[in-house]
Amino acid sequence: MPAVLKMKSARPKKDWPHLRKKLAAWYATAARALPWRQTSDPYAIAVSEIMLQQTQVATVVPYYSRWMKLFPTWRALAEAPENTILKAWEGLGYYRRARNLHALAKAVVRDGGALPRDEGGLRSLPGIGPYTAAAIGSIAYGLPLAVLDGNVMRVLARLFALEHDIALARTRFLFQTLANEFLDRENPSIHNQALMELGATVCLPRKPLCLFCPLGPDCAGRSRAGEFPVKSRTASVPQTETVAIIKRGKSFYCEQVPEGKPWHGLWRFPDFDSARMERGEKVGRIKYGITKYSVTMEAVEAKWKTRASVPGRHLTSKEMEALAFAAPHRKLIRFILQVI
Ligand code: SF4
Repeated sequence: MPAVLKMKSARPKKDWPHLRKKLAAWYATAARALPWRQTSDPYAIAVSEIMLQQTQVATVVPYYSRWMKLFPTWRALAEAPENTILKAWEGLGYYRRARNLHALAKAVVRDGGALPRDEGGLRSLPGIGPYTAAAIGSIAYGLPLAVLDGNVMRVLARLFALEHDIALARTRFLFQTLANEFLDRENPSIHNQALMELGATVCLPRKPLCLFCPLGPDCAGRSRAGEFPVKSRTASVPQTETVAIIKRGKSFYCEQVPEGKPWHGLWRFPDFDSARMERGEKVGRIKYGITKYSVTMEAVEAKWKTRASVPGRHLTSKEMEALAFAAPHRKLIRFILQVI
């Protein structure tokens, strides 16, 4: 039996109009007053949605406010230099989003200054996948597109006590089918925002606040919410790296990451290279995670043996402050300025 049919027969029947009504009524009283909810400007909505991918609301709020002052329109963003954009994004992580937003602004300006008002047109633009198209399309233009992010998947998994592994790509299709069915097509903007808000503030990953949930009486997974969503885990891969701290007076040698490498466009300390450098004292150690890797980064003092084809330059602490650095290297700057 195809998986989608299996899911349909296994899940309890729901009174969709009743659930939609309860969800919307709850949102009317419980919605947080977030800055991007005070505007109908599609640009502002697109910025917030792209920032919110993989980042918590509380982290995004100050970045969003600064961003909108620095780049208040598509044109202002399209015309800004990449360095300025990366600096404004510094600390938010997943820098590809900043570059995609820049590419998106250039495409919008090139095509007349406004986003397309249909799903196909939105999806054809750089950096806009199914989630972002549904979020921008429904919130900015009222298109009947159901959003599906981690919060929505968690609510749906619990509401229907679904035991499908959300780490599998095919499960996404099943959840999207369900989200489409649940969608309030008359009011997709409120419905989508309400469902995401419920996941972010009530149907929490660890301790869901079921007592305050408007969907509580209809929730099949309520009594064992901790079991949902089901997600198979892949162990992170340990990795070590050594970076060189090369000091000259009060400045430190740094390099800008070239195109085609992770963190491209950002600044960092160079990898220690025994062919070109002499190793000195150990300075410190920082741990960080990137994609599936858990990295231990060791920093050592170093001197040049040869400076042939050195691509970087020495930066003072003021210059390092002004440039965009990869997050672990920013941490390292704070550390070495105290100890060296
Ligand atoms: Fe989530 Fe609890 Fe609401 Fe069910 S009742 S949707 S588990 S908060």
